[in-house]
Amino acid sequence: MKDINKLIVANWKMNPQSKKDAEIIFKNISLFVKNLKKIDVVVCPPFPYLYIKDKIKNKKLKLGSQDVFYEKEGSYTSEVSIGMLKDFGAEYVIIGHSERRMTGDTNSIINKKILATLKAKINPIFCIGESKRDANGFYLSFIKQQIIEGLALVTKPQMKNVVIAYEPVWAIGSNAVREATAGEFIEIRIYIKKIIADLFDIKTANDIKIIYGGSVHPTNANIFIKDGGADGLLVGRDSLNKKLFGQIINLVK
Ligand code: PEP
Repeated sequence: MKDINKLIVANWKMNPQSKKDAEIIFKNISLFVKNLKKIDVVVCPPFPYLYIKDKIKNKKLKLGSQDVFYEKEGSYTSEVSIGMLKDFGAEYVIIGHSERRMTGDTNSIINKKILATLKAKINPIFCIGESKRDANGFYLSFIKQQIIEGLALVTKPQMKNVVIAYEPVWAIGSNAVREATAGEFIEIRIYIKKIIADLFDIKTANDIKIIYGGSVHPTNANIFIKDGGADGLLVGRDSLNKKLFGQIINLVK
């Protein structure tokens, strides 16, 4: 398998509440990444704070957004195009986050967003994950459907730019039922790779980056990377906290 950089994604969600705070958090993260090797850190702030990348210049810190619309331009009130994001320096876009799925993003909408993002040569961070686990394993076919429908019409060469984020909804946020285990991640990782191998080929499955998200804290970050084999982490709450996010980066390092 290729030796690839680990990817740590900070999903700020609808935080913080002022640009002053956004600049402070971005600056702190930018200090952490200064001497990092083999790790890419991507900060995904709310749209109004995307300007930060231009203000606090740090080539090592990458910018992402939390969503995108699939049309190029036109009468789509409130939407943001991939061209706009690219112009702000975004290199990644989170697509299909469970909080977007809850507000109406279907697999088909997510697929359009992924295709538009890849066309613009930006990397989609394609979120998948079940809301609950059942003893009969129906959640596995749910995940399979998310992958098949989300990646429809994506070509083999384009898959080089796709990152898959496995985020079990039951492990996300302050209402999480419980934390996922490294063992659960290992199983899903193998399962995702099998689906990708069937859809594309074994090389694509070997090379695909699969990261883990959902209640990542300094106490478990290393477990998902070292024991679970995750290619990186998607961090929500702790990415806003200087000390905790710094610890997570250090553990992955
Ligand atoms: C998320 O919502 O993508 C996430 C990972 O959140 P948290 O780390 O807060 O569970």
